[in-house]
Amino acid sequence: MLEVKGINTFYGHAHVLFDASLAVREGECVSLLGRNGAGKTTTLRSIMNLTPPQGGEVVFMGRALGGLMPYQVAKAGIAMVPEDRRIFPTLSVEENLSLGAKRNAQGQAPWTLERIYDMFPKMAELRERSGGNLSGGEQQILSITRALMGNPQLLMLDEPTEGLAPIVVEDLVEAIHKLKRERMTVLLVEQNLNVALDLADRCYVLDHGQVVREGSAEAIRRDDGLRHDLLGV
Ligand code: ATP
Repeated sequence: MLEVKGINTFYGHAHVLFDASLAVREGECVSLLGRNGAGKTTTLRSIMNLTPPQGGEVVFMGRALGGLMPYQVAKAGIAMVPEDRRIFPTLSVEENLSLGAKRNAQGQAPWTLERIYDMFPKMAELRERSGGNLSGGEQQILSITRALMGNPQLLMLDEPTEGLAPIVVEDLVEAIHKLKRERMTVLLVEQNLNVALDLADRCYVLDHGQVVREGSAEAIRRDDGLRHDLLGV
């Protein structure tokens, strides 16, 4: 579904991603791992063309994304849920969700308010609550479900568990498992290694802007050296 081929990304003169390549197949959950500053968020930003790569290419469902504006990448079927969630605090949950609604490139809308409320009853319960009055975990689920309302083919989540209490992390992990059961394709950036390995089918490890390892979640879990050397855990 997604192929990132040898991309190089810069912030000004700072070269941050070096010939980074990865692939995500339909229905997979792929995790990007790496220490702080390894380039995980930059990889997602590069895919969205928020920080367009200056070399290499990104191909999504057979279409090269080079030269597209971020909104056009979104329209092509990729949704990114950023680390800061971007909830509209004065709008209700339902208004936040409705703002995200759009049909996919095929003109279909498999994700509707009804389906979201059915799968995530907490959102139904909170539908009248303003976004600013939600807990961190509720905001994170809102931010993910709002992205789903855009009917993306690929959902990219940046550090969804960041700043959440462990008990809330469990709810969130269950929510992402639900999406996996619905065959949603997910590219996940996650600092919490247990969460990343629990959810991922495959992982890529980034170090100083380079992809240094690819493997199944199981292989990464078993590799003590890699966890110590590259992930610092
Ligand atoms: P973290 O979990 O800390 O966000 P990360 O793996 O997502 O880590 P990135 O945010 O992609 O890392 O950052 C990669 C490198 O790019 C870091 O050295 C960071 O300091 C640098 N960087 C990130 N954003 C900018 C920016 N807007 N301008 C300049 N440098 C940046």
